[in-house]
Amino acid sequence: MSADGTMAEWRLVRRPVGEPAADDVELVEMSLPPLDEGEALIRNTFLSVDPYMRGRMNDAPSYVPPFPLGGPMDGGAVGVVESVRGEMTDRAGRPVRRGDTVLHDAGWRTHALLTGRAVRVVDAKAAPAQSYLGILGMPGLTAYAGLLRVGEFRSGDRVFVSAAAGAVGSIVGQLARLKGASLVVGSAGGPDKVRWLLDDAGFDRAIDYKAGPLHKALKVAAPEGIDVYFDNVGGDHLEAAISSLRQGGRVAMCGAVAQYNDTEAPAAPRNLSLAIGKRLTLRGFIVVDHRDLRPQFEEEVGALVRDGRIVWRETVIEGIERTFDAFLAVLTGGNTGKMLVRL
Ligand code: NDP
Repeated sequence: MSADGTMAEWRLVRRPVGEPAADDVELVEMSLPPLDEGEALIRNTFLSVDPYMRGRMNDAPSYVPPFPLGGPMDGGAVGVVESVRGEMTDRAGRPVRRGDTVLHDAGWRTHALLTGRAVRVVDAKAAPAQSYLGILGMPGLTAYAGLLRVGEFRSGDRVFVSAAAGAVGSIVGQLARLKGASLVVGSAGGPDKVRWLLDDAGFDRAIDYKAGPLHKALKVAAPEGIDVYFDNVGGDHLEAAISSLRQGGRVAMCGAVAQYNDTEAPAAPRNLSLAIGKRLTLRGFIVVDHRDLRPQFEEEVGALVRDGRIVWRETVIEGIERTFDAFLAVLTGGNTGKMLVRL
């Protein structure tokens, strides 16, 4: 049990129009309900806040259902099992015991009561618990599947990735480099992020897209063009990439974070018809459709992490009451690497 038998959870109370506002959500405290047979009480230690959650605040058809109004929001989280009522195995059939660290989707709250099917026991000794929300978790698999399968990356390709200093983008660029890209270019907002990409993450070139016109900067960074664009941003980034893509180029359409708060249709890309003559492939994807790659991803990227051949960063915000601020910040570049909330 929590020390005082209470928990807190964030609820969506109004659907945002444009940028989410403080009045769209509320943090509610309540007594912890009693455990049913076959349930575990989990004390969350890290919550994930992710750009896709903005889409879940809208009442619109999507690949994940909208957050219900007045109900708890959810998302990735890791936590420690405080107690288990009866016997329990996780979704992979492993026993779940008090003290285990588990990964689950009942984020945006301090505690969760979950059955075995809803949790996955993770090895918090092999890697920090929160890395299962980042490099070893959903963002890592997104980068891996998006670059290798969707973007059909081949050794020697010239790769451009946007939101390159973020959770997904920073892994994309490093995987491309490790797998033999002839050029890795990233774009990010601000000189500190650009410096990190060049000094620590091993990018060949990095563009501060806030410092000047992106399409010109991309032409300078990749004068011979690019073969693969990993799109996290949409809009003018996609337009600049289409302009720089070579014959037969590929776009892995992962996200469009520049547009998530838009209330009107985006102005760019205006040059989509170039895709015809250049024989481009633009392919959207959702990570859950690539779960079959998880064992391969875990083995390969797990080894890179263990050997220190891949770097990752975290931006950690402290406290359940700051979860919504952390979410707003991830939409506006307040993070380098994975944005997390530590409880
Ligand atoms: P990040 O850690 O990359 O955080 C989002 C970043 O987007 C911010 O840090 C900010 O960085 C950048 N950004 C925000 N607004 C703009 C803008 N107007 N123009 C350019 N960059 C902007 O998030 P994730 O790594 O979790 O996600 C990256 C993308 O991948 C998102 O679009 C997300 O929705 C998508 N995604 C898709 C999945 C799928 O299955 N298809 C799965 C997971 C993520 P900066 O300071 O550089 O502007």
